Amino acid sequence: MNLARSSEMGAGHALVLGAGISGLCAARALSEVYDRVTLVERDTLTGDGTVRRGAPQGAHVHSLTVRGANVLEEFFPGFADELATDGATLVTALSEVDIVFFGSLLHKVPLGTVLQAGRPFLEERLRAKVCAAPNVTLLDGREATAPLTTPDRTRVTGARLARSGTFEDIDADLVVDAMGRAGRGATWLAALGYDKPAEQRQRVDVAYASRRYRLPPGALGPNKALLVGATPARPRGLVLTQQEDNLWVLSLYGFGRQDHPPTAPDEFLLFAQELATVEAWEALRNADPVTGVASFAYPHSVRRHFHRLRRLPDGLISIGDAICSLNPIYGAGMTVAALEAAALRDCLADGTRDLPRRFYRSAAKSVQLSWLFATLADRSMPQVPGTRPALAALLAKSFRATMRAAATDPRVAAAVWNAVSLTGSPADLARPHIIAATLRNWPREKPKASPERR
Ligand SMILES: Cc1cc2nc3c(=O)[nH]c(=O)nc-3n(C[C@H](O)[C@H](O)[C@H](O)COP(=O)(O)OP(=O)(O)OC[C@H]3O[C@@H](n4cnc5c(N)ncnc54)[C@H](O)[C@@H]3O)c2cc1C
Repeated sequence: MNLARSSEMGAGHALVLGAGISGLCAARALSEVYDRVTLVERDTLTGDGTVRRGAPQGAHVHSLTVRGANVLEEFFPGFADELATDGATLVTALSEVDIVFFGSLLHKVPLGTVLQAGRPFLEERLRAKVCAAPNVTLLDGREATAPLTTPDRTRVTGARLARSGTFEDIDADLVVDAMGRAGRGATWLAALGYDKPAEQRQRVDVAYASRRYRLPPGALGPNKALLVGATPARPRGLVLTQQEDNLWVLSLYGFGRQDHPPTAPDEFLLFAQELATVEAWEALRNADPVTGVASFAYPHSVRRHFHRLRRLPDGLISIGDAICSLNPIYGAGMTVAALEAAALRDCLADGTRDLPRRFYRSAAKSVQLSWLFATLADRSMPQVPGTRPALAALLAKSFRATMRAAATDPRVAAAVWNAVSLTGSPADLARPHIIAATLRNWPREKPKASPERR
């Protein structure tokens, strides 16, 4: 799809703070409308495929949903094929992927192509594409420290950047906070005398541990990915995916301190063995690791309700994790960031007047279903604080029954996949035939006294 050039072409200068996935997607959308787009990144960007300090999550599995890939394809037609030519893995879901949710292996019905690559690989190629536009400039090694405003503070007019102890002020017609979940944009609003957006937090206490391996082609037989989700009785998960150039990433996670994955290599492997299929374990136990074990603690998901603010300054918006950071086990963060950038593009097609308010309303729609789905799934885990045990048990039973149905019924498997890959709505899981299949598979066993472990 070609982006429509706004009737307000010549909207001036846009300054995007943070060159992660949301900053890059935002810069792409803005480059169609603004004369100049400047991307500012605190890290010094080497482009050598390594994990960088400002995006430590890059050491862990980064699945791009089909919906997310579609948006990137809209921004850059041919993107997936180019990445595949560069070494990324294209996979037919679900034929070439084993997905075990709530103990059931989803029926292996072919449902579309998925792009698998490491986060640094994906981000670097996306960055090259965005920066290839003649009106986009990247300034790395600079930290945004404060907004600049008009004297009456009704408009943000740029940002102050710090570099090696010196400061420079950059003027802009629009400043985009894509600085991640720390929420600088929200803090800046408060510093300028506006209300901070209300924050919704869901404590999840998830931790990841990941390591990359080189595995021979066909290490998992016909499969190029294995995903084993956590269950209430065993709140641990495993993802093993083939990425670029026959590199595979093994990511392990757990809810609650007692189930956080260890980082000592031997214990890390034992944790994996408990979850892996026989085939995956055989491949892993003899595999050559190419990195150490990296860890990441994710205490809570957070959503900021910018769209509910009554007063907003002109010229400042937040995007991506700065609006909503979702429990990463659902693999939706990059997709939501891309959808928000698409929402920004669509808002810009109607000009820049009242942009922050229009954008936040539109972005809230991109966030809403993913937030709902992720927080409902989280609440099926008794380890997640704040959920009534009866609700957790009901949700868990219902997910378990749906996944049992998805093991044999291709229509249910497709509905589950569409919800997870965001190509459909999670609300489709409430359609009559899915509910009927779920009820037919409703677990009848009595709850066990002590948690089962494999
Ligand atoms: C362990 C883990 C696994 C994940 N797995 C997946 C997955 O499988 N699929 C998926 O879709 N998503 C996943 N995510 C989420 C995903 O990484 C993010 O949602 C997505 O990248 C969007 O983030 P962002 O660009 O908004 O923020 P970030 O990725 O945090 O980027 C923010 C950028 O801003 C820069 N920055 C910060 N402060 C400043 C400053 N003051 N000045 C200038 N620059 C600054 C940082 O260096 C960074 O480059 C995962 C996250 C985690 C933690």
